[in-house]
Amino acid sequence: MRYLSTRGADKNLSFKGILFSGLASDGGLYVPEKWPQVDFEKLKKQSNYSDLAFEIIHPFMEGDIENKQLKKIINDAYSNFSRDEIISFKNLKKNEKIIELFNGPTLAFKDFAMQLIIPIFDYYLSSKKEKLNLIVATSGDTGSAAINAVQKSSKINIFCLFPKNRISDFQKKQMTTVHGNNIFPIEIDGTFDDCQNIVKSILIDKSFSNEFSIAAVNSINWSRVMAQIIYYFYSLIKNDISEKDLINFSVPTGNFGDIYAGYVAIKMGLPANKLVIATNENDILDRFINSGNYSINEVAKTSSPSMDIAIASNFERLLFEINNKSTEKTSKNMDDLRTNNGFDVSEDQLNLVKKLFASKRINQDEVENLIKNTYDEFNYVIDPHTAIGLGASREINNEDEYNFILGTAHPLKFSKTVEKAIEENIYSSDKTNGDFKEEEKFFSFENSESKVREIIKNNVNK
Ligand SMILES: *Cc1c(COP(=O)(O)O)cnc(C)c1O
Repeated sequence: MRYLSTRGADKNLSFKGILFSGLASDGGLYVPEKWPQVDFEKLKKQSNYSDLAFEIIHPFMEGDIENKQLKKIINDAYSNFSRDEIISFKNLKKNEKIIELFNGPTLAFKDFAMQLIIPIFDYYLSSKKEKLNLIVATSGDTGSAAINAVQKSSKINIFCLFPKNRISDFQKKQMTTVHGNNIFPIEIDGTFDDCQNIVKSILIDKSFSNEFSIAAVNSINWSRVMAQIIYYFYSLIKNDISEKDLINFSVPTGNFGDIYAGYVAIKMGLPANKLVIATNENDILDRFINSGNYSINEVAKTSSPSMDIAIASNFERLLFEINNKSTEKTSKNMDDLRTNNGFDVSEDQLNLVKKLFASKRINQDEVENLIKNTYDEFNYVIDPHTAIGLGASREINNEDEYNFILGTAHPLKFSKTVEKAIEENIYSSDKTNGDFKEEEKFFSFENSESKVREIIKNNVNK
């Protein structure tokens, strides 16, 4: 499989090449040259998650890893998920199912990609006896998932940027109480987008990033998307769905990574009907679907902080598709975004998007109601992000269709919001989770790229 940049400067790259560079030299995102096709009827026979994962992702890494190695990495990756099931399902109304993607070690769906790709980095590094420095900007969950996956590695140091006062206490402690001489959490007095901009800027500076062997594991890294394709297929295979049913997925969306993985699944042969973009007040995608105009607003602070972002970075990959894979047009759009704060697409392009995608914005007070009502009706606690997915699904989809909602995080991560909504302190007796014994350790400073560079310089893994 070969990869190219959505903005045209890089092409004909290997999986390994794009895994390590993360962001293209022109600032674009990497995409595969073509979509591998799966035979869904054949795929249905793979009821084991790891076997299915191998079938789906090996074409994306063809020529870059031995099948035997990849199988081993996949098997190990999903062996430390806490429950018996890597993914569990919760039935709410008829044909309404939550896909519980929070059974991993850090209780959000980000574990699916991190537990897989960090060992892939390690595998490539050990064959060359090299070291690596990872930088990551996080709106909360990516950081803890990455730190958990990296802590066992002797070849990787991680620098994790998170926005001050804009993640939950639990999320913060998941990052700052893991101590290791390869782990460096950095609190930035700014927003997630500020953190992401620092990461992008460091990555584009090739002399700096080459000198210090820097790579990124943000959701803009293709390998993250790749790992998230699997559970769309798995959800269909594991549930008894009639051939006649129209199948929809509602996806709580921030950076457009998780839902874009659903789009790729459909391109590969997943028989799904609609993907629902569920947003909070940070609604750049919802406004786009309603108007064809993609433009940046200020970030709003909400009760679903993992989705508090102004720009949905992975949207560039879909834009590339509706630009008919034109790197010129995509570059032009992204230039306009930078210089004019936004751009418009044509009616035809928007209709192309609407064939597969619908969208709905769910506000904070609705989130609270959804959490409360779900608890009252089904004795089941959902986190604020999942609540947004559920709310959007109910507004958009028909009840006689088959509606999946991606459950993106465990409610424990957002206990303040959840407990306020259900008016109960359900976690006080839970001793196994949320009991952080270690003291917090992290750097903290203003929104400054030079400070981040300094920390990296002083702590690189050479
Ligand atoms: C990251 C995250 C999201 C948003 O996913 P994107 O891929 O950025 O769209 C939603 N919910 C939770 C809990 C998350 O951690």
